[in-house]
Amino acid sequence: MRRITHFIAGEAYSANTSRTSDVFDPSTGQVQAQVELADAAVLSQAVQNAVAAQRSWAAMNPQRRARVMFRFKELIESNMDELAHLLSSEHGKVIADSKGDIQRGLEVVEFACGIPHLLKGEYTEGAGPGIDVYSTRQPLGVVAGITPFNFPAMIPLWMAAPAIACGNAFILKPSERDPSVPMRLAELAMEAGLPEGILNVVHGDKEIVDAILDHPDIKAVSFVGSSDIANYVYGRGAQNGKRVQCMGGAKNHGIILPDADLDQAVADIIGAAYGSAGERCMALPVVTPVGDAVAEELRKRLVKEIASLRVGIATDPDAHYGPVVGAAHKARIENYIQMAADEGAEIVVDGRGFSLQGYEDGYFLAPTLIDHVKPDMKSYQDEIFGPVLQILRAQTLEEALSYPTRHQYGNGVAIFTRNGDAARQFASQVEVGMVGINVPIPVPVAYHSFGGWKRSGFGDLDQYGMDGVRFYTRTKKITQRWPSGGAVIDQSFVIPTMA
Ligand code: NAD
Repeated sequence: MRRITHFIAGEAYSANTSRTSDVFDPSTGQVQAQVELADAAVLSQAVQNAVAAQRSWAAMNPQRRARVMFRFKELIESNMDELAHLLSSEHGKVIADSKGDIQRGLEVVEFACGIPHLLKGEYTEGAGPGIDVYSTRQPLGVVAGITPFNFPAMIPLWMAAPAIACGNAFILKPSERDPSVPMRLAELAMEAGLPEGILNVVHGDKEIVDAILDHPDIKAVSFVGSSDIANYVYGRGAQNGKRVQCMGGAKNHGIILPDADLDQAVADIIGAAYGSAGERCMALPVVTPVGDAVAEELRKRLVKEIASLRVGIATDPDAHYGPVVGAAHKARIENYIQMAADEGAEIVVDGRGFSLQGYEDGYFLAPTLIDHVKPDMKSYQDEIFGPVLQILRAQTLEEALSYPTRHQYGNGVAIFTRNGDAARQFASQVEVGMVGINVPIPVPVAYHSFGGWKRSGFGDLDQYGMDGVRFYTRTKKITQRWPSGGAVIDQSFVIPTMA
């Protein structure tokens, strides 16, 4: 059985422990590897190496750090096929979607190539008599990232690329369910010329997460995952004096106004609801048509489109989506479908009980469509994270606006309309962090920043873009005066002013 170890000081690192976790191939349901689960001693080893390496990495001029990022980008591109197959084999998403996962991470590496420009500080000449003020951005030291299973390339790169480019050393704790792509990325970073100890990967569960949160030499922690754990990580990390940002779960709504281009909206919603088996934090698992006429027409078209969807193994080039990540997760999704029925919603298309010939042990679920969902249903309030689309009908724009606004999550939302005034009003008023106008999955590009509101985001700063640079640096503000041959300034016991 293949064994996945940690990656410390530029090479594979095994603690020869018996504490391991099975890594499955979701398409077959078979165990394909075992990943070691780290304890505090493994983390100490990683942090020690990171501390030793970080100072000289930070002292290297930013242009040289950027050159490593350029080479890293090229290596990811030239290894795209291998990375995508590895990713699909552990996650279950189809190859084209794995390439999208890697590509969105790659774009953050591209952004990090601009680090010399991004780190430039501010300067005021003559802030007072003979006085100049400037500010610089300095790295924090050793920082860590804890990432979820659903984007094993993109999310580690969201964090690691800006953190490293800013001059930090990075400890990555990826999901133990699909640990191989983060390992390959670390190897490629070494090949790109990153010094040993600057990017380390430690695998594990709660034990290693707690060790990260308690380690005094880790100055900042970035987390992406489910909300209860995000909240816990935020609290414990902040309690220990660290800078923390935590992105949590989601329940994104797609609002359809009567004047929307329905052909386009249906195509967008089908892709956003069922793509990657619904295991995206920016999926659209709720659609809110405004008015009964739109609702009826939408439902009819969704049913027709769903009938043509192909669920297949991750390497099936014709499959629209693959299996969900694991047996427990599949059972959890099925329970939510049952809960919706018990709560009085109508199961229009039931994806349970689907079996793929030749892959009967794979974790497949056919698409599910649920209508007449009500806002007080638990199956609506919770994140399901599977190929399940819920129709929550509204009669007015105001009512439609109120649903994502009142929901506990506030990650993404999309509105489909030709009415600019309505779209503008909606975008301005909705209490959600990322808004799409006729765009179903409004993940901001790498040079903006990503982050949700309410229980989808804990902390002040978002991921990547300028917020990524802000998160992984601290500003130093310098006020300077140089002798200019003038008279000695008298001692003063009054707070200095520039008056
Ligand atoms: P998860 O919360 O189970 O795991 C995330 C990370 O936390 C993993 O590295 C895991 O090992 C670790 N972890 C698990 N249990 C822990 C515990 N008890 N204590 C400390 N750490 C623990 O999430 P997941 O199932 O891997 O990913 C899916 C979730 O992530 C969904 O809720 C999804 O919405 C969310 N997500 C959010 C975003 C976003 O940007 N808002 C992006 C992607 C995924």
